[in-house]
Amino acid sequence: MSLSVHRAAVVAQKRLTPGMIRVTFGGPGLSGFASTGVGDEYVRLFFPDPETGEVVLPIVDGRGFWSWPEGRKPAHTEPYTVRRFDGERGEIDIDFVVHEGGRASEWAQRARPGDGLVINQPHGLYEAPDDIEWVLFACDATGIPALGRLLEDLPASVEARAIVEIADPAHELTLMSPARLDVTWLHGSGNGIAPSRLPEAVGAMKLPARPGYVWIAAEQKAARPLRRRMRHELKLPGDRYSVTAYWTDHLAEWQAGWSALDPAIKARIEAAWASDRDRDDVADEVDAILDTAGL
Ligand SMILES: Cc1cc2nc3c(=O)[nH]c(=O)nc-3n(C[C@H](O)[C@H](O)[C@H](O)COP(=O)(O)OP(=O)(O)OC[C@H]3O[C@@H](n4cnc5c(N)ncnc54)[C@H](O)[C@@H]3O)c2cc1C
Repeated sequence: MSLSVHRAAVVAQKRLTPGMIRVTFGGPGLSGFASTGVGDEYVRLFFPDPETGEVVLPIVDGRGFWSWPEGRKPAHTEPYTVRRFDGERGEIDIDFVVHEGGRASEWAQRARPGDGLVINQPHGLYEAPDDIEWVLFACDATGIPALGRLLEDLPASVEARAIVEIADPAHELTLMSPARLDVTWLHGSGNGIAPSRLPEAVGAMKLPARPGYVWIAAEQKAARPLRRRMRHELKLPGDRYSVTAYWTDHLAEWQAGWSALDPAIKARIEAAWASDRDRDDVADEVDAILDTAGL
């Protein structure tokens, strides 16, 4: 089975802050792109090989698992949020965090009109029940594009609190919402510069007893205790929170640790994810294994 994809061409690129670059994509390849309408919808971007310009895409099996064509260099691929979708103009905006050594990030910094890449179908994660009276958002810089769109989509009746961790005050962006909004910016931590303070900041908060929703996007080692807090300490039902690991700090070291892991443990993790078991139960088991392995 081949992946359902669109070829997207750069229409414009601009710097929003010293830490964020917006790339607007358009072109005939995007004409069939269908947004889910969910504020944190993301696509996978498949980047051209810097030497050949070729984009080698994965082959997808019946269960959705990927493999790569034999003997060809797989395209670098990363998930990114659709910050804005304009169906009439056939355009999407993607906001890239500027960070050192990032292949996607550096591609965005160099992007010029006419440059191309491939994107797949979008998928949203935010799924707040209809009765919510409040939402708590917490994220680092990678979550700002989703946060921005989710806030814009909130009804005016909701009370929104956002805790956003960024490198420094110059990286703050204006966040707009019809909802009553209170934003706290944490400066100088997370984002690959220092340990994240999100677990401590969110962990210290008392959530309202009224119906609400918690949305968190963070580096995986910050996301893990936050998911644990929501599920096990606060005992929120699964439909009242979404905690997503958006990236992995010191990726090469993490991958070396993963490669060195006992093959039986890796097989156990892979089998758990491939199973039909409850996703939260699987996440608990995998988190515990990774914690023990220091990954
Ligand atoms: C659902 C979802 C939506 C996302 N949406 C966005 C988005 O809209 N905008 C966005 O910028 N990111 C977003 N991300 C995160 C993004 O996919 C990762 O940051 C990705 O690893 C960046 O790829 P790269 O090719 O630039 O870095 P790589 O070449 O894969 O990594 C190079 C090095 O950079 C480090 N690194 C990766 N990301 C960061 C970072 N943010 N800060 C500091 N160091 C980093 C890695 O640890 C590694 O050591 C999203 C992730 C998910 C799961």
